[in-house]
Amino acid sequence: MKIKRYKKVNKNLGFYINTFGFRQPYQLLADGTFCFAALNNKINVVNDIPKYLQGEIKLITTQCAIMEMENLGPKLNGALIILKKYIVHKCGHEGKPVNASKCLLSMVKKGNSNHYIVCTQDRELQDKIRTVTGVPLLYLHIKTPVLEKPSEASIKKAEERISGISEPEIQRIEKLKEKCGLIKDEKVHIRKRKRKGPNPLSCKKKKKGNTEQNNSIHKKDAKSEIEKKKRKRIRLPKHVKEEIIKLP
Ligand SMILES: [Zn+2]
Repeated sequence: MKIKRYKKVNKNLGFYINTFGFRQPYQLLADGTFCFAALNNKINVVNDIPKYLQGEIKLITTQCAIMEMENLGPKLNGALIILKKYIVHKCGHEGKPVNASKCLLSMVKKGNSNHYIVCTQDRELQDKIRTVTGVPLLYLHIKTPVLEKPSEASIKKAEERISGISEPEIQRIEKLKEKCGLIKDEKVHIRKRKRKGPNPLSCKKKKKGNTEQNNSIHKKDAKSEIEKKKRKRIRLPKHVKEEIIKLP
């Protein structure tokens, strides 16, 4: 694995370890779409995913996910055989099975206390997972496993935990700031900064034109300083200097 990929996984997984308490063996909650893609792309999940995550894993599914695959017909038999080898966790739909995406979402929706990493190729489910905090998403990009970077929802939650202030509290503080006129002051401060104008040194690359005659004295001073500096930089070789001295 390339170092860049290695660093990316470490960073993304580290976020969940530090913020949400994920630990090895990582609990991979997979559906049929993931197994189907792995089989099609000849990925050995049992060997390749632990290498990618650099840690031990547990492959988990639910009865709903298995039943959905069974109902989809013999074309998916290969993926079904793989899925049936995974550990089946109770999902609460016993006797009343729902579709796999609904089932997996219900498993992580309430805080993801089991620290599941959801493995799915189902785009709709992926989008829903991104809105739930503290749920890593793993999918296969052709032949490469990808642990997606933490979603905005997860990052926000992490920031709340660090600061100890929740999102509604942050909004309340912002409103109070507005009431007290603190936000207005900040805006004035920004405007003042903008009025400072460009750094005169940054004008040196501009082409000389008629409009330059109208430039302020300040700018001219700056230019003359630059020219002086330029003049200083000219160094004549020794033999040329000697020739100049010899001149009448
Ligand atoms: Zn279920």
